[in-house]
Amino acid sequence: KTDSALSFIVVGASGELARKKIFPALFSLFCEDRLPENFTIFGYARSALTNEELRNMIIRNLTCRIDKRKNCREKMDQFLKRCFYHSGQYSSEEHFLELDEKLKEKEAGRSSNRLFYLAIPPNIFIDVVRCARRRASSENGWTRVIVEKPFGRDSETSKELTRDLKQYLNEEQIFRIDHHLGEELVENLLVLRFSNLVFEPLWSRNYIRNVQIIFSEDKGLEGRGRYFDNYGIIRDIMQNHLLQVLALFAMETPVSLNAEDIRNEKVKVLRSMKPVKVEDAVIGQYKGDSSYPAFTDDPTVSDNSLTPTFAAATLFINNARWEGVPFLMIAGKALQSKRAEIRVQFRHVPGNLYNRKFGTDLDKVTNELVLRVQPDEAIYLKINNKVPGLGMRLDSSDLNLLFKSRYPREIPGVYERLLLDAVEGERRLFIRSDELDAAWKVFTPLLKTLEEKKTAPELYSYGSSGPVGVHYLAAKHGVRMGEFGC
Ligand code: NAP
Repeated sequence: KTDSALSFIVVGASGELARKKIFPALFSLFCEDRLPENFTIFGYARSALTNEELRNMIIRNLTCRIDKRKNCREKMDQFLKRCFYHSGQYSSEEHFLELDEKLKEKEAGRSSNRLFYLAIPPNIFIDVVRCARRRASSENGWTRVIVEKPFGRDSETSKELTRDLKQYLNEEQIFRIDHHLGEELVENLLVLRFSNLVFEPLWSRNYIRNVQIIFSEDKGLEGRGRYFDNYGIIRDIMQNHLLQVLALFAMETPVSLNAEDIRNEKVKVLRSMKPVKVEDAVIGQYKGDSSYPAFTDDPTVSDNSLTPTFAAATLFINNARWEGVPFLMIAGKALQSKRAEIRVQFRHVPGNLYNRKFGTDLDKVTNELVLRVQPDEAIYLKINNKVPGLGMRLDSSDLNLLFKSRYPREIPGVYERLLLDAVEGERRLFIRSDELDAAWKVFTPLLKTLEEKKTAPELYSYGSSGPVGVHYLAAKHGVRMGEFGC
């Protein structure tokens, strides 16, 4: 209803995530007129801030995406007038009651919807959810809670967190955010598969030889190692972002684009996966040199840390569509390039005439589809063609859709999309409890073994292509490594 009020409560408003991502994303939505007319934003944290101090903090990170608009500063002022702060303890019902009173004042008797964003460390999630539920829930509209990862450390702790959250919230109220799922490519993956005739018939073990899902970063963790040292790359990137992408890539056609239909299909894929075996994984950690610090040089990281900053793992889906097809996941920090992509290698053309006649290198004549998020969003298909001229020479070239050339308008930020979805109650890009549970089952045995055996990661140089072991792993499963930059 247009006359209802939306209250957006950022819990942990004094933190980095709130400052750098959440407030700027809300501002962009405001600029694009995507927020309801009667919206109010409340920051909540322990720090003693005034409304003015919160606004000064927010404005430092606001940029006008549509910076050619003349009224950008005006827009910022309009936005800031809707931002307020309430200082309180995370476990104090009394402080949440005070927040409730302030919210009611702004909601001015309208029917109200309240969206809490938990931008706080996970050990205080439950306190906040309890207080919010008991003292600051909407009485006549919906109340939703966005939860940031980490969602536990393994199957047991994740189940415990879900059980605790469900003491106060039902499944429809929990929005587990995985910001990588807000990327254009993730949405495009489904469009590509389900609205083009040419890909879906090839989307199976019959035509696909292997799939690589790659996420490499060219920076280490300089100064931000504390959280990471406790979690490592498998928990930070693989178990959530990359596994979600894999599930979307591999799922069957959903009954509809409805969130529950999509999430039902993703859960089936995750439940069909075998837990990753230790022999199908490689872990690494970056070392330093005269120019770059090692992971263990970080003052927040223990000197003898065994936390992997790189991991590669081969996963298999035990169903009719995918049995035997290796899905090679690679994620790493401090590598030679920043890259996020899915590479699909197709099988060889059976009885290839050109190979028979010219002895062409089989690998070179294999088609490959690349869905790239970084650098520069693109979708391209490697195909073979004849080099113009009198002779017969084959060349591999790309059918290339480079998004910035085709669609010069700026792509909205991932938080923008996901926040808007949460406001609109669109759940398809948020992770349901059973999905999370199935995802942890894929990696928990590997994580436990690595930790119990105190497995030492293979060291690799900062800015290199990662541990050598990844090439052996790829070779073992017949995966030809692309130029993945690690
Ligand atoms: P943060 O700056 O460390 O914490 C946010 C706020 O929480 C702080 O300003 C502080 O506010 C409060 N806080 C911090 N430590 C606390 C403690 N031990 N006990 C009680 N309150 C504490 O974290 P962040 O970077 O904003 O991230 C928030 C959450 O999102 C974290 O759980 C993080 O893992 C997750 N996350 C962050 C990012 C990112 O880009 N930064 C990305 C993905 C996920 P007061 O002292 O004012 O109460």
